[in-house]
Amino acid sequence: MHSDQELNYLTKSLLHHPSPYIIYELDGSIAWANLAANYIFNLSSLDEISVIKIDDQVKNNFGDLESIALYYDTPIEISLRKINFLMRTRVHMIPVDESNGIMLIELLCSSRSGLDALRNTIDCIEHKRIELAYQKQVDLETNEVTGIEALLRLQDGKGGYLPNDEIIPQIEGESLFSLVVLESLVQLEKFFAIKDELGFADATLYLNVSAHTIMHPDFCSIFTDFVDKHQLSPNKFGLEVTETAELSDITIASKSLSLLKDKGIKIALDDFGAGYASLKYVRDLPIDVVKLDKHFTFNVSDPSTARLISFVSEVCEDLNLEMIGEGIETEEDKQMMLDLGCKIGQGYLMHRPDFLDSFKVKET
Ligand code: C2E
Ligand code: MG
Ligand code: MG
Repeated sequence: MHSDQELNYLTKSLLHHPSPYIIYELDGSIAWANLAANYIFNLSSLDEISVIKIDDQVKNNFGDLESIALYYDTPIEISLRKINFLMRTRVHMIPVDESNGIMLIELLCSSRSGLDALRNTIDCIEHKRIELAYQKQVDLETNEVTGIEALLRLQDGKGGYLPNDEIIPQIEGESLFSLVVLESLVQLEKFFAIKDELGFADATLYLNVSAHTIMHPDFCSIFTDFVDKHQLSPNKFGLEVTETAELSDITIASKSLSLLKDKGIKIALDDFGAGYASLKYVRDLPIDVVKLDKHFTFNVSDPSTARLISFVSEVCEDLNLEMIGEGIETEEDKQMMLDLGCKIGQGYLMHRPDFLDSFKVKET
């Protein structure tokens, strides 16, 4: 583990993610602490809880974060009278002096599903259960592979995988997600090492990132460093930007994307037409590719959906953007997408996401 690099990105990530967590390495294993969440729960018994907002004086008494790491790994669940919701917590003992300690209750998460997502992800980070599967994107006329999308696979430890659609939206705003991104890049290195050999020299290898991840220009160095380190030529590496919440500041997002583009990183707007990924983003963000959400393809036989697909392909043509249709599962889907002007596609018909090892077997 490159703990300096991880700490660096975590710190950057903490600057713009509203998450109160920090994770760091302690005695060879990952420890994690809440940056005190601005609250300390000071108690002598569970019945007598008083909430103190952290101020400098309290911080001085507690010393630095290292001391918070001396924790009892005992999650407890409490309901605070003053704050009206259930929280999961972790107890830390912080030495004040030789005979006295203070108990700090770390607030882990404000919702049960969020908490589960968080704990599962921490497990995956701790036990290196992070993998990537890859899915080809192909020219629908020539079958040439134009791109490859890396998709996160978080092992659940029981032989299965955590469902991305449920887990990722809950954790991608958390600072710890930067560790997942870092690990993904370590995995991508392995693909890049043999990409040309596998016959994909001209294809773009895309990683998914949420707009949260790239929102802060400082944090983009995680990707620009990667391009520098591997001396990747333009358009060999790309980011599919997904958005699950409306972008709070489109000017900042645009600045981040320009920085990445200047490094030759190709930018695709993912899940276009779903959620918040709207025409406004096509107009205001410096993107290269529009990926039409798979639900359009699923309904391609519906005349109004077909009209919309054809509208998007016209817009892309006019603005000189590539368009990729997701979710192509049948020959009929493929033909109809082509007829509507969508030239590049991705879907189970052409290729199912697969791990790198199976690429090696199939391509050689
Ligand atoms: P996405 O980026 O739109 O990825 C496409 C999803 O559709 C993938 O699901 C893929 O396996 C699935 N798919 C591909 N072809 C077909 C098809 O023909 N039919 C159907 N029904 N589905 C198809 P997956 O891997 O579960 O990922 C779900 C979402 O999770 C992704 O949607 C993306 O938003 C997010 N995600 C995946 N990997 C990452 C990652 O590394 N980082 C981040 N931030 N998000 C990721
Ligand atoms: Mg994607
Ligand atoms: Mg998508």
